[in-house]
Amino acid sequence: MAENFAVPKYWTTLSLVLGFMMLSATGTSLLLPSLGDIESLLLNDTGSINSTSTDYGHIVYEFPAAVLNPTSPNDIVSLILSANNNSAPVSVAARGQGHSVRGQALTSGGVVINMTALIRNGSRIVVSESPSLGSYADVGGEQRWIDVLRATLERGLTPVSWTDYLYLSVGGTLSNAGISGQTFLYGPQINNVYELDVVTGKGELVTCSSKKVPELFYAVLGGLGQFGIITRARISLAPAPKRAKWVRMMYSNFSAFSRDQEHLMAPNGFDYLEGFLLMKQGPLDLSFYPLLDQPRIAALINRYGIIYYIEAAKYYDDSSRKTVDKVVEKTIKGLSFVPEFLFEQDVSYIDFLDRVHTEEENLRSLGLWEIAHPWLNIFVPKSRISDIDSGVFRNILLKQNVPTAVTLIYPMNRKRRGLTLEPGRTPLGRQALPMMVALFTSIELKTCLRGISSLPLEPPCYKHN
Ligand SMILES: Cc1cc2nc3c(=O)[nH]c(=O)nc-3n(C[C@H](O)[C@H](O)[C@H](O)COP(=O)(O)OP(=O)(O)OC[C@H]3O[C@@H](n4cnc5c(N)ncnc54)[C@H](O)[C@@H]3O)c2cc1C
Repeated sequence: MAENFAVPKYWTTLSLVLGFMMLSATGTSLLLPSLGDIESLLLNDTGSINSTSTDYGHIVYEFPAAVLNPTSPNDIVSLILSANNNSAPVSVAARGQGHSVRGQALTSGGVVINMTALIRNGSRIVVSESPSLGSYADVGGEQRWIDVLRATLERGLTPVSWTDYLYLSVGGTLSNAGISGQTFLYGPQINNVYELDVVTGKGELVTCSSKKVPELFYAVLGGLGQFGIITRARISLAPAPKRAKWVRMMYSNFSAFSRDQEHLMAPNGFDYLEGFLLMKQGPLDLSFYPLLDQPRIAALINRYGIIYYIEAAKYYDDSSRKTVDKVVEKTIKGLSFVPEFLFEQDVSYIDFLDRVHTEEENLRSLGLWEIAHPWLNIFVPKSRISDIDSGVFRNILLKQNVPTAVTLIYPMNRKRRGLTLEPGRTPLGRQALPMMVALFTSIELKTCLRGISSLPLEPPCYKHN
């Protein structure tokens, strides 16, 4: 993977900027070399420093010397140019919503660029249309996906590829991949971008695409903020559906679950497809299910120890309202879920896409949002996915009674649209494999995962500068 990656020339350039400054033992008296006019926009008060010194993971802490609240992309250009003109290296890290978990948006002794400051300039989300591209949105890298959704829905349009959680920045997810239950159909978010504006390590603001400066375009998409800073992304749009039939089907057997997940990737079926685990040691969130059904679901989980469920959605609008139930019925016909353990909700499209926000509110009210979040994402080939079940889910988590939070299993097909990028072009192009397991869990699981080194796993926890 990383070792096979041809490093673009921009890497060398940005490396000149990256470096470190002296960090005192307490992390408070950090020094920056002179950065010229841009210094007037740098903040080093305790609030600014502390708020950019950790992330959602609450595992890594690094204290920057200063925070830049840019008023426009030109301020980012000025910072990088000033940093380049300095004899002493200055470390720079772009920060979107700070929802990474291993310090990817942090820098020790350097400057954090608080991209969200650009939101103060207004929405920077412009919906347009062209004969060659159809509908698209030009979106500031600092914008949150929830705001992109709201703005595009006003025009009856929507991006097609999402993350499960929408309060992440466009620049932040495009620097990773952006994966959710739509990836099996459309590829990750990075496959649905036409063009980017990027501030490079040389301090140039460059517009790039698959045709124009493609090396930069493909390096930045999925580039973990190492090849430039995204200040605008042109994202493809499609007509927005109005509502979603949202279903969950429970399995006591992993092979049946993964076989059905794969089967459901067939075209013309569901628009969204994921998988989850429910374990008897909990914690169990059964709020999706009718109150009356919750006792029998809890009994099923207790009986088998682990229950797997497929979560899927079929979108519809006025024209398909009458047929959607038949389509769902036909799509699930012949599946091997436990009889009588199919549950359904009918929700608006926006409520469906924004479903994790409700969970966030619940967790916040319980004081469980601002805590440590070890989180592992791995791509697993179909040939080894059952080893994850027997080796990790059953042999470690269940046997050792390890409480887990969220465990997700996304089916993916590298041959399907969006996952057939030229090998070596994007992280997913290099790594695409048919199943992805995302373990979003407690500290204990991280410890447990050390026990599975015999599996061909590569935790994509990158650390920069
Ligand atoms: C509750 C939760 C749910 C999640 N769900 C999903 C999911 O369903 N699918 C998924 O794919 N991911 C998911 N993630 C992971 C998330 O997509 C990444 O952590 C993403 O980077 C977060 O975006 P951010 O704006 O918080 O980025 P940050 O954490 O602020 O930054 C992440 C990286 O991107 C870089 N960066 C930030 N902005 C820019 C920019 N404008 N230009 C260049 N580089 C930049 C940073 O330097 C850093 O390296 C989830 C995370 C959380 C906390």
